[in-house]
Amino acid sequence: MRFQLTADQRQLREEVRTYAQERIKPEAIELDRAGEHPTEILDELGDRGYAGLTLPERYGGQGEGMVELAVLTEELAAALMPVASALALHLGVAEAIQRFGTDDQRERFLPSMAAYETVGVLGLSEEHAGSNKLDMETTAERDGDEWILNGHKQWLTNFLHGDYVLTYAKTGPDGQRPNNVTAFLVPTEAFEVEEVWDTLGARTVKSPRATLSDVRVPDDNRIGPVGEGYVQRGRLQTGINVPARGVGIARAALDDTVAYTSQREQGGRPISDHQGVRWEVGEMAERVDTARLLTLRAADRADRDLDTTREFSMAKISATQAAVDNANTATQLHGGIGYTSEHHVERYLRDAKLLTIAGGPNEGHKDTLGEAVYQDHPG
Ligand SMILES: Cc1cc2nc3c(=O)[nH]c(=O)nc-3n(C[C@H](O)[C@H](O)[C@H](O)COP(=O)(O)OP(=O)(O)OC[C@H]3O[C@@H](n4cnc5c(N)ncnc54)[C@H](O)[C@@H]3O)c2cc1C
Repeated sequence: MRFQLTADQRQLREEVRTYAQERIKPEAIELDRAGEHPTEILDELGDRGYAGLTLPERYGGQGEGMVELAVLTEELAAALMPVASALALHLGVAEAIQRFGTDDQRERFLPSMAAYETVGVLGLSEEHAGSNKLDMETTAERDGDEWILNGHKQWLTNFLHGDYVLTYAKTGPDGQRPNNVTAFLVPTEAFEVEEVWDTLGARTVKSPRATLSDVRVPDDNRIGPVGEGYVQRGRLQTGINVPARGVGIARAALDDTVAYTSQREQGGRPISDHQGVRWEVGEMAERVDTARLLTLRAADRADRDLDTTREFSMAKISATQAAVDNANTATQLHGGIGYTSEHHVERYLRDAKLLTIAGGPNEGHKDTLGEAVYQDHPG
């Protein structure tokens, strides 16, 4: 057993790290302060081929797997977390088309998605369907070769700069759960924006609420069989981006803290001389390693088509909590100046908090993990 990335994976990490640290991080504080969408950066990521990282080469992708997605996402999140969200959610939509769409749909959508010329949005959550998505109220009714969609979606990350929402809608009665949900690609223009929230963190990429009123969608835009959208979604592994974002923030908080506490002097010596500080920094490093190992283990199992239920939930819980804990400690160890936007650490703390909630709250993942552990240990 070897705990190391391959030479190609290390090369990808170095490429993205250099780009992210030199191009994204220097702009991160200002973009966050202004709440400005990182349009140019995302376009550049498209030009670099990252928007199609896991898509097949014949559609303009790079044919990589979930380990590479985790590596890419960690590096982007270490510079500016919402950039990683925007790219990963887009790629998640493209992956759904790749996995469950028809050849014609792959031809129609994937080449421009791999280039980030067409941007995907995930439309799953609703006001009354958050941690329990099957409580969704949006419906799709068939009318000949079309479907008529009514309802709303919320937390539509990428929507304001996106092209298609992968919209999950009920096409059968609740008695048929979970086989009563179908996925459709709906153009963003068909929605009406109702609310664009002001958020604690992730301020550069907005996640609005938008409604659908008698919107007609051709059956050609249905992704996967009728009634199977929700079940098929469970087979996608791109959710690994959420713990990977946690690893990115946790690592950035550690890096910044080592640098700051090594040069900041009080009483004639660096504050890193205090044993209390060194212990905290040691624990931060331990959390980064634990989070990364768990995340890469889940990604590696996904790439080998092994079950990831238990491993994914462990990674999600551990890595997102590591991000919050490390960002919190980093802010403490930066003292007063860490509480200002002169440094990155206060943003890490605000951005990190999203990750224990989004991608399914950690409590839900604890339920899943607990169930998996009992199943693995019968009696
Ligand atoms: C900024 C942002 C971006 C997002 N982007 C997207 C997106 O692009 N597409 C999309 O479809 N969704 C997106 N989401 C939605 C996100 O996945 C949901 O917010 C999340 O699943 C939680 O749903 P909820 O907010 O309705 O919380 P609720 O389901 O109302 O839960 C509230 C709280 O109750 C507690 N809780 C819930 N379940 C349990 C349990 N089993 N045991 C114990 N406690 C529990 C948790 O503390 C939880 O945080 C985004 C959310 C945010 C905030």
